[in-house]
Amino acid sequence: MPVLVMKFGGTSVATIDRIKRAAKRVGVEVAKGNDVIVIVSAMAGETNKLVGFVNEISPLHDAREYDAIVSSGENVTAGLMALTLQEMDVPARSWQGWQVPVMTTSAHSSARIEEIPTDNILAKFGEGMKVAVVAGFQGASPEGRITTLGRGGSDTTAVAFAAAFEAIRCDIYTDVDGVYTTDPRVTSKARKLDKIAFEEMLELASLGAKVLQTRSVELAMRYKVRLRVLSSFEEQSDDAGTLVCAEEEIMESNVVAGVAFSRDEAKMTLISVADRPGIAAAIFVPLSEAGVNVDMIVQNISEEGRTDMTFSCPTDQVKRAQMAMEDAKASGEINFHDLVADTDVAKVSIVGIGMRSHAGVAAKMFSVLRDEGVNIKVITTSEIKVSVLIDRKYMELAVQALHDAFELDKTA
Ligand code: ASP
Ligand code: MG
Repeated sequence: MPVLVMKFGGTSVATIDRIKRAAKRVGVEVAKGNDVIVIVSAMAGETNKLVGFVNEISPLHDAREYDAIVSSGENVTAGLMALTLQEMDVPARSWQGWQVPVMTTSAHSSARIEEIPTDNILAKFGEGMKVAVVAGFQGASPEGRITTLGRGGSDTTAVAFAAAFEAIRCDIYTDVDGVYTTDPRVTSKARKLDKIAFEEMLELASLGAKVLQTRSVELAMRYKVRLRVLSSFEEQSDDAGTLVCAEEEIMESNVVAGVAFSRDEAKMTLISVADRPGIAAAIFVPLSEAGVNVDMIVQNISEEGRTDMTFSCPTDQVKRAQMAMEDAKASGEINFHDLVADTDVAKVSIVGIGMRSHAGVAAKMFSVLRDEGVNIKVITTSEIKVSVLIDRKYMELAVQALHDAFELDKTA
């Protein structure tokens, strides 16, 4: 029998009524002849509450206990969902991560899934069970301790199950009805996409679009799991939501698929570092060792053997970056005059696989920003994206102008 994976996020299981509504959706898919694996998140707000408890008791907590506590929200919704299905006469049971078992690395609070054996669940399907409800976000380490996959990790659980069971599709039910060309709160012209390529979704997710956990998209791309993002609050047709799929499945697409933005990026400038061979390594090796995720980098032209080096990193890593640079200075590895952190910036990016075959996309972006009088502080590009760092106060303006200029409100 075909296996379908259905994942319900926190808002979709936030109350008993919503769990009942979600269970009805599951019932519809079972009636179509699918064996269904349901992955659930904790009720909305539950994980935050648990994280709060942990930090209240112990700011420098034992990560293994953090995982034991923080994973528990999913246990509740998995059991409630299984019970609700049973009340509807759908044969169902719940599974916690360790029962499957979802085997992960021992990196507590950000573990990676290593293996999902399918035999236990397939045996139950063989005996007539129709739905396996699995607690998302959690697994077990080789040491036999409970692990979690990082915040938003139940998306990754869902994709990993879809890959392991070779599911026909992985449906992600959430509080939005799909993936948009940009955040509809920034421009009312934002349009829901019917399809988007894995690569584009991956860029959008890592650049600030919050629909899917980045890691889940990476995994979907690697294993070619077709992902559908859709709302659990609307009546569903078979083509509802947005399908995240391989490029080949998309016939027509705009050169630019979407505009992403993030306010969580800071601009860091090292003033007056020596311009000598090895200086970039002397700066960025300690940063990476300190766990700072550097995104954009610019080195100014040098004057009298000295230069300024600018990079961007997430705002919550500014302290860490500062400490790493002060340490490197103290140990004599680098020398700089000052390190200036500017957190009043935003990163705005355009993303589209069409950029591979179209010239002039970046130039057009820069012209649009010039016409709006927006100054660009830092630029990075890849094959399918262009990102700029600008003053935060111009973020909405820039997103709207780019959305208009690339005609994202219209289909290709
Ligand atoms: N409940 C977890 C969180 O809030 C996992 C998830 O929802 O994906 O991060
Ligand atoms: Mg989520």
